[in-house]
Amino acid sequence: MNEPNMISPENTVLNRESNAPASQPLEEIDILWLTAGLGCDGDTIAMTGASLPSIEDIVLGAIPGIPKVTLRSPVLASESGEDFVRHFRRAAEGKSKDFILVIEGSIPNENNKAEGYWAAFGVDEISGQPISTCEWIDRLAPQAWAVIAAGTCATYGGIHAMEGNPTGCMGLADYLGWGWRSRVGIPIINVPGCPIQPDNFTETLLYVLRNAAGRAPQIPLDDGLRPSWLFGETVHEGCDRGGYYEQGDFTDFYGSRRCIVKLGCWGPVVNCNVGKRGWMGGIGGCPNVGGICIGCTMPGFPDKFMPFMNQPPGSLLSTNAVMTYGRTIHALRRFTQGSLNKEPEWRKRDRPRLTDI
Ligand code: SF4
Ligand code: SF4
Repeated sequence: MNEPNMISPENTVLNRESNAPASQPLEEIDILWLTAGLGCDGDTIAMTGASLPSIEDIVLGAIPGIPKVTLRSPVLASESGEDFVRHFRRAAEGKSKDFILVIEGSIPNENNKAEGYWAAFGVDEISGQPISTCEWIDRLAPQAWAVIAAGTCATYGGIHAMEGNPTGCMGLADYLGWGWRSRVGIPIINVPGCPIQPDNFTETLLYVLRNAAGRAPQIPLDDGLRPSWLFGETVHEGCDRGGYYEQGDFTDFYGSRRCIVKLGCWGPVVNCNVGKRGWMGGIGGCPNVGGICIGCTMPGFPDKFMPFMNQPPGSLLSTNAVMTYGRTIHALRRFTQGSLNKEPEWRKRDRPRLTDI
């Protein structure tokens, strides 16, 4: 009998758009984490700091309602060399159990040069030549139950995809196609961030695992293929410094607690939740702790946000407007605040006694 919180009465995974069963619920699943794009492994490192949920809770079976998970990440594995690569070989040959493919790092264009390669992982058993990252993606993506791009390099290309970069790097959706779907009908899932906010990644992974277990519908994504509930609001809407912005109180030096838009913060137009969520354990989050938002979760990053330390052009108009009314309102609030900081007159020891009235 189905549990009360199960989405499908047939105990099947729902395809959100067609409402048709996408696959049978899974009891076990592998996570194959490929860090062989152009990147710094920073997303794997960031993910180890997650607590809502932690990756340990996911792989140790501490969370009910998800399949048994085996994580295969080159950064965290105890195996090395061919002992590790063989898991990917078997998956590419269609010989492994269902798996979620996680891609970390930017995808290079291996067709833009006469020889050599930009990125690779393992070697071909027959030729002894490196297997390019693109080849791994070509082999693994069609077999995967779902594909997640972790971090801004894998999602949108990131730093490696800056104009003029000789690698021709791009994000996974530009490589596979924005309309790409896994064999069970799930689009590429993008979790951008440079690096990923730890809990954003593990929460997304948990959602996908709940979907795989038949206990959640297909993940809702925005136009950038980001989980819509995580990236639906701006940094500004959750920033600790929002009150200063609203009253036109801007700083022009680091170390101040006031709004840092004039130092180059793009928070008002950037979809990211770290202002509200913080970085680890609810603490931190770029502008909350004095770092300008440079828009690292956005498809236009980094080119459209550069030079980073300049005030965003659009904010010149908005900050002037806010300064006009914000400072006036702030001054008026001082009167109200002054009044509210005094006790009512009747709470005095020498107030008139009732019998005196
Ligand atoms: S620091 Fe940035 S995100 Fe925060 S209130 Fe100012 S402009 Fe908005
Ligand atoms: S606040 Fe801005 S710079 Fe910081 S993680 Fe979010 S998008 Fe990136």
